[in-house]
Amino acid sequence: MIELRDVTLTYPDGDSVITAINAASLIVLPGEITAITGPSGSGKSSLLAVASTLISPEQGSVLINGTAAGGLARRETAALRRDQIGIVFQQANLLPSLTALEQLELMSHLGSTPSNRSRAQTRAKAIELLAAVGVEKKAKKRPHALSGGERQRVNIARAFMNDPSVLVVDEPTSALDQERGAAIIELVIDLTRTRNVATLLVTHDRSHLPLMDTVLSMVDGNLSVHEAAAAA
Ligand code: ADP
Ligand code: MG
Repeated sequence: MIELRDVTLTYPDGDSVITAINAASLIVLPGEITAITGPSGSGKSSLLAVASTLISPEQGSVLINGTAAGGLARRETAALRRDQIGIVFQQANLLPSLTALEQLELMSHLGSTPSNRSRAQTRAKAIELLAAVGVEKKAKKRPHALSGGERQRVNIARAFMNDPSVLVVDEPTSALDQERGAAIIELVIDLTRTRNVATLLVTHDRSHLPLMDTVLSMVDGNLSVHEAAAAA
């Protein structure tokens, strides 16, 4: 579960400040997906960075499964993020020298506490996830040999390697055509339901909004219930 309570975040801007997030609150329950839509520069990526504990807000709190991230030491926050939060950014950010399978396996070898999963278990998990996102036949391919849509699928599979309870996804379709983009959104929704994660998704494409459990609008840092979705 993701919960934001009255979160405010500002960035310095010369002599003044930019209020990127203005007292935003939301709750996303396991197995549900909340979409955030809004114009460029309205604070959507900032909100995801705060929700995924990458940035600490100035005011308000972020709770992951009821644990307030603000009350944790830096190491504990990193562990919470590694163990509980899957993060998918706009660009796939895959390592050029690793195969699809290796991108996923690497996730189990990161972090301060050694994984108690064996190599064989890690590999089996990675293969299962590549199959779940429909790219099992590309397991041995490096990113340059994958299409944009396939790279984004590997990126999504990688986010699930540590069995997160929370998934944060920032405009995953922006580099894809309409059809491939729609397939990626359907995949994210399917994984949200079948793996019971609480998903926060930023999307600029309104055609996906009817599929979401909740749709929020962000304008100038202010989060509100999306009007068209509220009327439906
Ligand atoms: P969106 O994802 O909706 O396009 P962002 O969260 O990226 O919006 O940005 C919100 C506002 O904060 C914008 O005015 C942007 O210029 C500003 N901003 C974002 N990141 C930074 C940063 N690291 N430093 C200063 N200003 C930033
Ligand atoms: Mg953004």
